[in-house]
Amino acid sequence: MTAAPGRKAVVVGAGIVGVCSAFTLQREGWAVTLVDPDEPGQGCSFGNAGVLANTNVAPVAMPGVLAQVPGMLMDPMSPLTIRWSYLPRLMPWLIGFLRASTPSRVEAISHALANLSRRVFEDLTPLVEEAGASDLVLRRGYIGVYRNPAKLAGLRAELALKRQRGMRVEELGPDELRQLEPALARDIVGGYHIPDAGHTVNPLALTQRLVAAFQRRGGIVRRARVLDFAEFGDAGPRSVVTDAGSIPCDLVVVAAGSYSRALAARLGADVPLDTERGYHTVLPRPGIELRMAMMCGDGGFAITPMATGVRLAGTVEFGGVEAAPNFQRLDPLRKHAKALLPGLDMRDGSQWMGRRPSMPDSVPVIGRSPRHRNALLAFGHGHLGLTYAAVTGRLVADLAADRAPALDMTPYDPARF
Ligand SMILES: Cc1cc2nc3c(=O)[nH]c(=O)nc-3n(C[C@H](O)[C@H](O)[C@H](O)COP(=O)(O)OP(=O)(O)OC[C@H]3O[C@@H](n4cnc5c(N)ncnc54)[C@H](O)[C@@H]3O)c2cc1C
Repeated sequence: MTAAPGRKAVVVGAGIVGVCSAFTLQREGWAVTLVDPDEPGQGCSFGNAGVLANTNVAPVAMPGVLAQVPGMLMDPMSPLTIRWSYLPRLMPWLIGFLRASTPSRVEAISHALANLSRRVFEDLTPLVEEAGASDLVLRRGYIGVYRNPAKLAGLRAELALKRQRGMRVEELGPDELRQLEPALARDIVGGYHIPDAGHTVNPLALTQRLVAAFQRRGGIVRRARVLDFAEFGDAGPRSVVTDAGSIPCDLVVVAAGSYSRALAARLGADVPLDTERGYHTVLPRPGIELRMAMMCGDGGFAITPMATGVRLAGTVEFGGVEAAPNFQRLDPLRKHAKALLPGLDMRDGSQWMGRRPSMPDSVPVIGRSPRHRNALLAFGHGHLGLTYAAVTGRLVADLAADRAPALDMTPYDPARF
């Protein structure tokens, strides 16, 4: 494809965020090169729980989180753990995390997240339809289920916040939940139902189909690692430097997930990005039928019916990007899942670890570099990168076109820290 003058874009990172950004830019007439050292979709986007959580409004750090953390770190069944050697490097991030949990910050953050959440399907559906991937996205709702009454009570603040932001959420008793998912255990005490949510049955295939559609329109995928940016002019870099040569650009979008921090710094943005590592196992012959994705409230992880089996996915491990996986982190997921779904066949489960690109305030970075007009940053989506990928692509395309986005971009500004 011949690039129109002034319309060459390079997107760094072919995870779901980079792919949706590249595809949306291309649909608006940009000649786009997508650069990744790996095949598209092999990073964090490979192994998520697949939930399209379009009613999310709550940051990870809710009021009271500080009091809960010590107990969680001591409990081997808890969804949170830390590699203690990493603590000194994590401290600035943790301080930002705790600061984000005050009631006034949570109120502000909930508006920022709600504004993204409301647009999830509006922005995702056109991409999915063009990619012929509608079979991979089901809109069957989402449930959260509890066996522990104290944990169920602890959830009420989050449900109230969802309602305040106008999201539809229904509290359900055990019988109503079992009517939705008959495989649930007899001893569940209650939970909630989010009728408007959805899930993908295959996150990797979804990314791959979007990439295939992007390539059909002439988009280029280059297997290379971006090392730097060069040939800085008035608007910013005119060249992206990779380990396989340089690529000319009029616009660059950094969407390299957990690896974005150093690249953003080269473009003048100092962002406190760190990583919340998560794990999954896929049970290939689950032996039960599930209709929709669910949150196991007691264990704080998702259980999703996928094309390849039932996926148990979640947990948070602080330990940086380099540390080797600790697959024992999957033991609590297996135990909680078996208690919640007694018929679940746990044999032959696969094991995977991925790195969520996480900001301390749970709000992604989507915006212009503070120093260069032609450099856009799109990363830090934490627990919700699949959900917010297409919305991010839309906002990136708006900024690239110098069009005012339909929502206030201040909360996502890379210079907010
Ligand atoms: C266990 C778990 C469950 C989750 N469940 C959900 C869920 O249910 N719903 C949801 O919305 N989200 C979920 N998430 C979060 C979601 O998966 C992430 O937020 C999302 O995948 C981030 O996408 P990304 O494109 O930013 O990053 P990635 O998918 O990690 O992609 C980044 C890409 O950048 C590339 N890259 C890195 N460095 C360079 C470089 N120098 N040059 C070029 N390319 C580079 C990498 O190779 C990679 O392909 C979950 C995450 C985990 C771990």
